[in-house]
Amino acid sequence: MRSMSTSRAAAVAATHFGIAGEVEELPGEVDDNFRIRAGDDSYVLKVSPEGTSASLLAARQFAMTRLATSGVPYQFPHPPAGGEAIVALPEGGSASLVTWVQGTTFASAGRPLDLAQDIGLLAGSVVRALEGFDHPALHHGGHWDLATAPSVLRQLGPHVRNRGDRELIDDVLDRLIVQIPKLQQLPKQVIHGDINDLNVLVAEADGGTEIVGLIDFGDISYSWRIAEVAIAATYAMLDQDDPLGIASEVVTGYSEIADVTAIEAELIYDLIRARLAVSACVAASRADQGNPHHAVSEFDVWDLLERLDYVDSVTAAAELARAAGRDVPEVPSTLAERRQAVMGGALSLSYESSADGPLHIVRGVGTHLYDTRARRYLDCVNNVAHVGHGHPDVVAAATAQIELLNTNTRYLHDSVVSYAERLVAKMPDNIEVVYFVNSGSEANELALRMARAATGRRAMAVLNHGYHGNTSAMVDLSPYKFNGKGGEGQPDWVTVLPLSDPYRAKVDNAAYEAAVNRLVGTGPQLAGFLGEAIVGCGGQVIPDAEDMRSIYRAIRERGGVCIADEVQTGFGRVGSHFWAFELHDLEPDIITMGKPMGNGHPLGAVATTRDVAAAFDNGMEYFNTFGGNPVSAAIGVAVLEVIEEEELQSNAAAVGSYLLSELRGLMARHDGIGDVRGSGLFLGIELVADRAIKTPDAALTQKVVDRGRELGVLLSIDGPHHNVIKIKPPMVFSMEDADRLVATVDVALSE
Ligand code: PMP
Repeated sequence: MRSMSTSRAAAVAATHFGIAGEVEELPGEVDDNFRIRAGDDSYVLKVSPEGTSASLLAARQFAMTRLATSGVPYQFPHPPAGGEAIVALPEGGSASLVTWVQGTTFASAGRPLDLAQDIGLLAGSVVRALEGFDHPALHHGGHWDLATAPSVLRQLGPHVRNRGDRELIDDVLDRLIVQIPKLQQLPKQVIHGDINDLNVLVAEADGGTEIVGLIDFGDISYSWRIAEVAIAATYAMLDQDDPLGIASEVVTGYSEIADVTAIEAELIYDLIRARLAVSACVAASRADQGNPHHAVSEFDVWDLLERLDYVDSVTAAAELARAAGRDVPEVPSTLAERRQAVMGGALSLSYESSADGPLHIVRGVGTHLYDTRARRYLDCVNNVAHVGHGHPDVVAAATAQIELLNTNTRYLHDSVVSYAERLVAKMPDNIEVVYFVNSGSEANELALRMARAATGRRAMAVLNHGYHGNTSAMVDLSPYKFNGKGGEGQPDWVTVLPLSDPYRAKVDNAAYEAAVNRLVGTGPQLAGFLGEAIVGCGGQVIPDAEDMRSIYRAIRERGGVCIADEVQTGFGRVGSHFWAFELHDLEPDIITMGKPMGNGHPLGAVATTRDVAAAFDNGMEYFNTFGGNPVSAAIGVAVLEVIEEEELQSNAAAVGSYLLSELRGLMARHDGIGDVRGSGLFLGIELVADRAIKTPDAALTQKVVDRGRELGVLLSIDGPHHNVIKIKPPMVFSMEDADRLVATVDVALSE
């Protein structure tokens, strides 16, 4: 509660310090702070509440004066020497005046990454300047003094009432308690104690942004020396993609100037977590007192605490100790080796050969993934997490149902029927019957059986470069597989139709006629056609609509059924429509679905016409142990509801068309981009060595993807020439995410 008016502040500044000027209120945790503008100069009038120890105020001023010799740009007392520095006010409390440092706070400048090391240097120079300085009033042990963290956490922890949050705090406390013998050996001295992102001021300079000052000496205290850099690092880490990387830089800068003992180095990481926990607890206790204090970003503090909870603290502590120049033997992670020993080698591992090694992701939130170093990545790959990683509605639906019951479709259950009704409502009118399965492959398998049951024939036609699943029949129907590495070539019951690619090879009508004519011939007779409306594995190719319609026509003329594989493209991903086949005005007989349906829970489905369903219902039971179980159904319903409530299809349309135009905008500067295409949030960037002759550039594509990972953006590659960057992120992808993606591609291509 502010106790002094601005007019009174003006009077105090004029009467006691001889500074007359315009007065503006400033934020402050304990003191009332005012900016006094006097001509070109500005000052800060600090009014400390009654009861603030006069000797503490004096000690702060001594410390500030001490810093004057350090070269640290800071606030110094006014008048600089002599005069009355601290004035007791008749109404109670006391006033002092310090100089104004011109600049923007580190926080409002967006916590610029390239200043991390400079923040460490600043902390180091403050520690060096205050070395040997002491004053009894500074041995106060307030709650911001990290040396009091164990008791602060014990005392204020109960104000955190959310169970998960409270566990985070308790973990930090437990760790501190274990470390007490080492904590007691930490060297102590007077430190600033609050080099946070609101107290470090920065300004634009010739070469970019630089630190111009340190303010607020209200938390100066005799404490652990290493706390100075731990606190500075904590605030620099907030809301960063690579918080530990940033902390390492801060610590490196610090250790260039200040001494760091082995024990200090080892404890930096624990102290960072301690500071976050203290900040969170103080905020919670203030909120309980009806006095929320928003000077530090509480959201970012909780976010970082939670992210660090998934970090291996031994590795993290070792990393920071190394940054401080103290070598700590590292325990190498053996997870990749263990995986290799027990899991099949045919599984692929992204970024396996990159310098940073494969990703070890432990958590997903919305469009972001987090690894074991708390590093945050923008996910442009995982279309399965359709409504966003860890969507709370989906988690809640799954949890509630699995607690209650999970069986199969041999019993009546409301949610599976409701789910089927809701799915059918999303389909064209003639599609009326649903079967639930557990994957896209299984959905296509079942669709194949249906096509065969409906026609009494066996052969199938597919589009070149298509992929339809991992089962033996689906590998046989996937040119992407049977013509790829380890493939056994085209089976005799499969016909491959050319993929009409508007960028590379639009199939002319004559060629199509010829290809379709080959369908009638010798060999097994045609049961139908299986194809995607945008061919993902073909490199996000949108075939010409007229060509797709002529395929459907030809198949029907020959008595076959048409299967639309919507495993990748369904559920609003293409933006303009709920299903991608609608882009071409196709009328499939069977629609297969998978990936996004369960937001990561294994869930697939086949929907078809009443006629096809009747033909399939030939007496043989179709039993699927897991397909359509109540948990899957509850999840499926939750996903559909989120798509509607959060209007994710229109988000895909808006963000997708923005991305298309921004990425196409990059073509003016980057000759390597041959084509940008797609619909909604299902896009491709095709990279070429020569735009005129469209030579595929797989090496450049790999380079962009690898650089993307370094910059915290996950991308993937596809297409027969491995030169198409695929973009198929969770549908909650925002405009800001889109900007970040475009900027990353831009940077990667510029290098
Ligand atoms: N069809 C298409 C078009 C696919 O992309 C995939 C998976 N990539 C599948 C089918 C197979 O789905 P699943 O991996 O769930 O079996």
